[in-house]
Amino acid sequence: MTMPSALPALSLTSPIQARIRDIAPEVEKTIAAAQRIVVVGHRSPDGDAMGACLAWADYLTARGKQASVVMPNAFPDFLAWMPGADKVMLHDHQAARAEALLAQADLICLLDFNCISRLQQLGAVIEQSRARRLMVDHHLGPDPSAAQLIVSEPQASATCELVARLLIEIGGTDAINGRMATNLYCGLMTDTGAFTFNSTHPDIFLLVALFLQRGVDKDKIYRYVYHSYSTDRLRLQGYVLYEKVRFYAGNHASLFALTRDEMKRFRFIRGDGEGLVNLPLQVRGVKLSISLREDTELDVVRVSLRSVDSFPCNKMAEQFFNGGGHLNASGGQLDMSIDEAIRVAEQAIEAFKELL
Ligand code: 5GP
Ligand code: MN
Repeated sequence: MTMPSALPALSLTSPIQARIRDIAPEVEKTIAAAQRIVVVGHRSPDGDAMGACLAWADYLTARGKQASVVMPNAFPDFLAWMPGADKVMLHDHQAARAEALLAQADLICLLDFNCISRLQQLGAVIEQSRARRLMVDHHLGPDPSAAQLIVSEPQASATCELVARLLIEIGGTDAINGRMATNLYCGLMTDTGAFTFNSTHPDIFLLVALFLQRGVDKDKIYRYVYHSYSTDRLRLQGYVLYEKVRFYAGNHASLFALTRDEMKRFRFIRGDGEGLVNLPLQVRGVKLSISLREDTELDVVRVSLRSVDSFPCNKMAEQFFNGGGHLNASGGQLDMSIDEAIRVAEQAIEAFKELL
């Protein structure tokens, strides 16, 4: 059987690539000096955190390192198919094993988050470790004390994009095999809403071309991620749209809130909240969507914000919701009842109405 012909050398033209090229030798030195490596993503890992961690750990393993992926808590079921997901250690379930790995590590790689506090309990464990730390991330404002070496590119679509760019600089396109390409494609797809936002630079599609050349089945990945609803999840969506969403500021903003009881009624499982907050943006003129949801474990209200164009979700999340994030996708949490949280969200909309 003949292999598909190789792509011509990728000509990645974004300034991000030039900066990655500059920092790659230092990343290479850091990897070369380490043997036992733990790769960590953020709490409630999404496709980008999972894809970046799994691909990075695969690369390190291929180089003969002892590399493991540790996440603070579980990832959603619709990511369980990702190659290597079955080996991911969850700190909240396997604390002793995860902590033993971290205690022995000489390098900890922090992917897809910008400050240790996004790890909650796992953060304290990492702060106690004497291992060197490398951060690779695309969130604004990385905490300079989080790692000795920080690759921070807030313009990047996804951390998976950064991992791909780094691997290409360190090992050439040959460093990315089919399994890694599948994980990287998944993260790039999920962080850009299947290439519907934050993905305009042509480099993104050159990277996608490389992934496809490695055999990625993009249509299957799309179905695994976006068409994996339970019947309950589909009906929850109907309920939210029919009975829960309210529109504000001349239909330029929307808000819905879900209580634990409502989630129980639709047999809510981890991951079922995913994507609901995007739906009100399908209404013409809506620039901001806010979702409030009682956490299923902790006594807090989880806040998700999504916007279009230049509406700064991250500023609203910082000012009103103890959080932050990207311009068009942010989150946070409120330590209060859901009814009080609704009032805070309404105040936030009022305060930002000039921008809506
Ligand atoms: P989601 O709505 O999917 O939970 O979060 C969207 C984005 O908001 C995340 O990718 C992350 O950048 C940001 N985010 C979510 N929760 C928090 C938080 O508690 N603190 C900060 N700083 N950012 C958050
Ligand atoms: Mn990301």
